[in-house]
Amino acid sequence: MDARNLIGGEWTETTNRTAVQNPAEWNHVVGTIPLSEAQDVDRALRAAQSARRAWKALGAVARGNILSQAANLLEAHLDELGLLAAQEMGKPIGEARGEAARAVAILRYYGGEGLRSVGEVIPATNPSTLQYTTREPLGVVGIITPWNFPLAIPMWKTAPALVYGNTVVLKPAELASLTAYRMWELIASLFPAGVVNLVLGLGSVAGEALIQHPLIQGVSFTGSTGVGQHIAETAVSRGVKYQLEMGGKNPVIVADDADLDLAVELTVSGAMRSAGQKCTATSRVIVMEGIRHEFTDRLVNRIQALQQGDPSQPETYLGPLVSQAQYDKVMSLIDRGRTEGGRVLTGGTPVGGPLARGYFVPPTVFDGVAAGATIAQEEIFGPVVALIPVKTVDEAIEVANDVRYGLSASVFTRNLKTAMACVEGIEAGLVRVNEETAGVELQAPFGGLKASSSHSREQGRAAIEFYTHTKTVAIRPS
Ligand code: NAP
Ligand code: MG
Repeated sequence: MDARNLIGGEWTETTNRTAVQNPAEWNHVVGTIPLSEAQDVDRALRAAQSARRAWKALGAVARGNILSQAANLLEAHLDELGLLAAQEMGKPIGEARGEAARAVAILRYYGGEGLRSVGEVIPATNPSTLQYTTREPLGVVGIITPWNFPLAIPMWKTAPALVYGNTVVLKPAELASLTAYRMWELIASLFPAGVVNLVLGLGSVAGEALIQHPLIQGVSFTGSTGVGQHIAETAVSRGVKYQLEMGGKNPVIVADDADLDLAVELTVSGAMRSAGQKCTATSRVIVMEGIRHEFTDRLVNRIQALQQGDPSQPETYLGPLVSQAQYDKVMSLIDRGRTEGGRVLTGGTPVGGPLARGYFVPPTVFDGVAAGATIAQEEIFGPVVALIPVKTVDEAIEVANDVRYGLSASVFTRNLKTAMACVEGIEAGLVRVNEETAGVELQAPFGGLKASSSHSREQGRAAIEFYTHTKTVAIRPS
């Protein structure tokens, strides 16, 4: 597959291209993508700017109908999109297909959003004056996405941007560009030229040109905290609206009275699905002394039974990491975990055999990790969990909060008082009782506290707060 940019309704070429390797098998090239320059970004933004008025004037009902049609088109290609994502960024095919289905559901949700009411009628001092609020699109919105959800994240930003009347330029992660390209290729003809634009390439070049461009009125970003900080500074200096979703260091608390079958199953899937490469992945397991040994034995047994291998095979639970850089980062954090006194219960050493031709890290469990250790504090973004023993629920909540992130947290307990104490006490945007830390729903607000997010929320109806401005209108009949 040779991906291209979509600019003003045309599929365009660039001077330079780069190859995309399969992270499960380095010497397998999946396709090529363009390395766009600032001039490509400029053309895309001009196209989006020209399309802006007509798209707004079309109205929300018609815009929503187009999104619903896009859902139907994508739905006919779930298997193909799942396989492409598996080959491009290594997500096991079952999960990747599920993510494609999520992108469809997101389009349906925001398709319906075109029919829902907006604004309020507010009493005016003059009783014959009609005073109400309505919503105005920002204009041209720049969307910058990471590689770990190559289908769902571009769609959960683009669909609300469009239904609320914005035009869009998407710069997906270089490592997930083929998947974004194919998704856009399937639906692009439904939209008037210039409404959705796709520019592929490096963050440091194409992404930077996008956030610096004077035509951008809003930037929605998901990715690392460092890049997010830079985007925020750029946006503030230019008076542009911005939204950031960034890292996590998500804990589960396993209380003495937890249903251990459920706690083990959902800790494993929260930590190991997508090889731990989710912002909501379970990364710390705060476990109470009373069940510590039984829980730990069961967790390790379950993790040792996981099938690691080729992500395009349906029986694979755990694929590779996305890149050499991620592999090096995760392996060096594992080394750091050892030198800081953690004990490896399973995993922790490089994988041999045919898997050595890909970026496979074995699922790894650390025990006896101090709450202040690097692997208990820094985002790992790999299949690694740190068990942290505690004696009381209060101590568990304290440890849960003792990180700079605050995205998602879970507690496993049968005791309502423990559950409520955690719901109230944990500093995170998402708190889940007897549920895994990942697995959020598209119709509910999503976002974090502290360094995890810029305090706005995505998904569900919350998206309207970012993608529109409120306009207050007063009309006196004469
Ligand atoms: P990243 O390096 O921050 O990249 C995210 C996006 O920003 C990519 O499209 C990247 O382009 C682009 N970018 C890089 N430098 C830029 C710049 N100077 N200007 C504009 N754009 C720029 O993150 P990643 O490595 O892709 O993803 C992993 C991180 O994302 C993890 O920290 C994870 O926690 C976080 N994440 C958070 C959430 C959430 O919802 N909270 C969801 C998923 C991931 P290139 O990569 O193409 O260079
Ligand atoms: Mg990056």
